[in-house]
Amino acid sequence: MLRIYRIFSFGACFFAIVCFALGCTQQQKQQSSKPNLNSTLWALTAAEYEAACLTVYKSAMLQLAQAKADTTWTAALEQKQDLSDPTISSSLLPAVVLDIDETVLSNAPYFARLMSEDEQIARGSFDNWVAEARATALSGVIEYIKEAKRQGIAVIYLTNRACRKRADNDDPCPQRTDTIANLENAGLPPLGPDDLVLLRNQQTGWTGEKSIRRSFICEKYRILQIFGDNLGDFAPKLGASGMTPNQRKEQTRQYQDKWGSKWFMLPNPIYGAWLNALGDDPEAYLK
Ligand SMILES: [Mg+2]
Repeated sequence: MLRIYRIFSFGACFFAIVCFALGCTQQQKQQSSKPNLNSTLWALTAAEYEAACLTVYKSAMLQLAQAKADTTWTAALEQKQDLSDPTISSSLLPAVVLDIDETVLSNAPYFARLMSEDEQIARGSFDNWVAEARATALSGVIEYIKEAKRQGIAVIYLTNRACRKRADNDDPCPQRTDTIANLENAGLPPLGPDDLVLLRNQQTGWTGEKSIRRSFICEKYRILQIFGDNLGDFAPKLGASGMTPNQRKEQTRQYQDKWGSKWFMLPNPIYGAWLNALGDDPEAYLK
């Protein structure tokens, strides 16, 4: 049994990836085990994963028209304007906000490659994967985004992929260029004039805490729905670093009115803030 449990321990490699994707500042842990086999296989192969994603995006799509028509509707806690004032609400463009990794694009092939090649995982290897622009779209997201655009709703990608100059390139944010190419390679509609792709560090002060960028979005847009695979994708300090798993669950329950109508969570068993919350000894939670 212990051997099975050990499959679920995660190595320094995953910590680096999680830090890259989430913008955390925690020191990389000196652990040596491989990435989680079952969760990677699930993300890569399970029809149940496809069904879960389809369920999320179809449910959201069915509620889009209502969310757009109700001019007082917002999914963002950062939306501070008085939306009951028609002159204010009509001045804002309706938009949906989506995280990218494990929300719109699946990096399961990357994790599978790391496992099969026994590659030394480091921050740089994920950046190489970003540059390849070969991540695939989650089931249902293409249809959802096409429908949002058909209804005149802007699509905003809000990701913690970070802008970081590369040695062979003068582009200050090659990751943004690559990500836009990846979205198109994966079959997502081209960006329209009101669509945005916002990366971490793209502007000064844009940290991994997405609330700052959601506030920026709210200046011009009314956010109808938010999608993510981490609590931090939805609200300020939600599931923040330092909270225990039970504290995170309790905080999640406080937003019952949001889940499934304004906030939509995609499953990610491979990495995430949920894993960071387990601390240095995840196996303690098995007891
Ligand atoms: Mg994500």
